[in-house]
Amino acid sequence: MLILKHNVLSPQDLLLIEKQFLRTLNGHSPPITAYFNVLDHKRTHVYGHLLGLFVKLGVNSSLGVTPSQLLDFFIDADAAYLETPYHTFYHAADVVTIVFYLLTEMTASKYLLPIDIASLMIAALCHDTGHTGYNNLYQINLQTDLAKRYHDRSVLESLSVDITRDLLEKHQVLKKIPGELYSKGYKQQERNCLDAIENIIIGTDMIYHYEHQNKLISIYDNLSRRSPDSTSSIDSIEPDSSPDDTSSNNDVDVNKSAVDGDGDSDDTGDSNGEDGNYNPVQLNPNDRLSLCGILMHAADINNTVRPWKVAKQWSDLVIQEFFRQGDAERAAGLPITPNMDRTEISQPMISITFGDLIRPFFQALANLLPPARVFLDNMTDTRKKWRQLKQDSIPWPNFPAASRRKSYPNSCRVSVPAGTVEVMDGEDLQRRFKRAKRANSNIDSKPLKDFGGRSPSPSIPNWYRRKSDQCIIDISQRYSPVPEIH
Ligand SMILES: [Zn+2]
Repeated sequence: MLILKHNVLSPQDLLLIEKQFLRTLNGHSPPITAYFNVLDHKRTHVYGHLLGLFVKLGVNSSLGVTPSQLLDFFIDADAAYLETPYHTFYHAADVVTIVFYLLTEMTASKYLLPIDIASLMIAALCHDTGHTGYNNLYQINLQTDLAKRYHDRSVLESLSVDITRDLLEKHQVLKKIPGELYSKGYKQQERNCLDAIENIIIGTDMIYHYEHQNKLISIYDNLSRRSPDSTSSIDSIEPDSSPDDTSSNNDVDVNKSAVDGDGDSDDTGDSNGEDGNYNPVQLNPNDRLSLCGILMHAADINNTVRPWKVAKQWSDLVIQEFFRQGDAERAAGLPITPNMDRTEISQPMISITFGDLIRPFFQALANLLPPARVFLDNMTDTRKKWRQLKQDSIPWPNFPAASRRKSYPNSCRVSVPAGTVEVMDGEDLQRRFKRAKRANSNIDSKPLKDFGGRSPSPSIPNWYRRKSDQCIIDISQRYSPVPEIH
């Protein structure tokens, strides 16, 4: 019997939630796959579904809370999501579902402790709370109150962190983490867990896309070196095979570590885990936290790698939100954010551009988690579908002309639901990379320790995080062509 303390639902709704909770918990619902679509379900079903996933993963036990407490927390988290086309509670529910899928069917849980999983699931649920439907670039260009509050850094993500902290406090979610997980008392346990949740949420800012990708490669490399048997896909990687006609400049060798400082110096390993009896596969605490951020990012940008029917539905919502922002920028006399001008770009263009951008990340993910190859197959299939739909009269540029920047004429900026990412090539990349080296920079090999406007990490170079919604990377310096997995 579910009993709420802070919220009121009708007895009928509570019954529906409980029924679905038990169905999910006891395996009487269809299995979670990439086909699962929260958009097909009513809210009561979604609440019960989420509760089932949390309890199946033991999040309630790890945190020392009851299913009723979790449901109460979910309802308030839902209320903290705004009325936007895409960044809604349903997006959060979808991300939680895919995180669950990655942890279970795709076996990522073997690398994590129960408390890591609990932090990841909480972060997934809350990661876009307060999102206005207008991205960081819009906030900064307009110098909104939010942009000022968070000093232009990961503006929306920092807002979500603050909301999440308040929600966790209100529901006392982190106050009773069982002692055996750590031996340092409740206060320290709460602090550690909160740090992890905040770190994972900030990591959803698209500026960290390439950092996640580099770290994923690094973790895979380290695991392969230490224990070749623990990473089974290394022998199955085939050489380059790009999706149909893509002349992609984001091709990467997912077996090759990033150069210049991305080596994992904190390579101590902690295979026994803090609780002494759980034995995640050979990852130290920093790498476990990084992996949580990677899984979170993979779930957050998962729309494009889902089967066509699901991918199209989410894309429709993304496009609504993008064009709404573009319209608002035009009305305000601001430059229109790349991919958001309805007069210049179409849905298939946006979707294909985004798919090509994130493909190397999912190739790297499939090396660490071989079942994740299904995402690559889905991506190839949806790409074909998008090309079939491209029947408009707009020319087909590699990237929208409006996104070209004066300082780096060969670079372009691509907007995605999680922000805007900057892709550079050729001479621009060389120039940028030299500047980064002059600044004595390297790509941070540790989890994102400091964030938002509060205390930028000294280990993350200024050029890398100077603007919260840009990510600049020297692709040509770091990678060789894409190995495709079949
Ligand atoms: Zn999101």
